[in-house]
Amino acid sequence: MSPMTWEMPKPFAWNYCGTCGNELVIAYDGQSDKPHCPDCRRFYYRNPVPAACCFVRRGKDELLFAQRAVHPCKGEWTLPGGFVELGETTEEAVLRELLEETQLRATRGRLIGVSTKQSPGHGAIMVLGYIIDEWEGEEDMAPDTDAMALQFFKKSERPEMPFSVHRDLLAIYDAMEENG
Ligand SMILES: [Zn+2]
Repeated sequence: MSPMTWEMPKPFAWNYCGTCGNELVIAYDGQSDKPHCPDCRRFYYRNPVPAACCFVRRGKDELLFAQRAVHPCKGEWTLPGGFVELGETTEEAVLRELLEETQLRATRGRLIGVSTKQSPGHGAIMVLGYIIDEWEGEEDMAPDTDAMALQFFKKSERPEMPFSVHRDLLAIYDAMEENG
């Protein structure tokens, strides 16, 4: 898909079975009506997609931001992070994303909170925020293809972030910092 023609995806919905390809029917799962594949005897659910982002600290009040090189919100600044993959914990996901997106290396993150946003394209995204207290590799720090630039910002100079989940988590982060 060309970035020039990017548009919001269609509303997220299950229409066909991901295993056998048959058209799904609506059936009662014991609680409510849900898309169902009679052949595979499987119900299809729409749940929030888990993602993780990180607050990489430098010095007293600097945080690392990544400038997006892709749509949506190309050119705007966000927190490094991404979607959790099957087979990994959310902490492993945030450390993997940190390495992939910045080349910074860390061995642990501290969970500070969760923010969920309803999204027409994805259904809903549930983002877990982690503080990265200790990390290394700043001399090798470099953005991957999804980012144009990486930069530490002081609190007074932070860019406005386009995603409400990141703003929610940043408010939690700041409240924690103020309370020591
Ligand atoms: Zn099926």
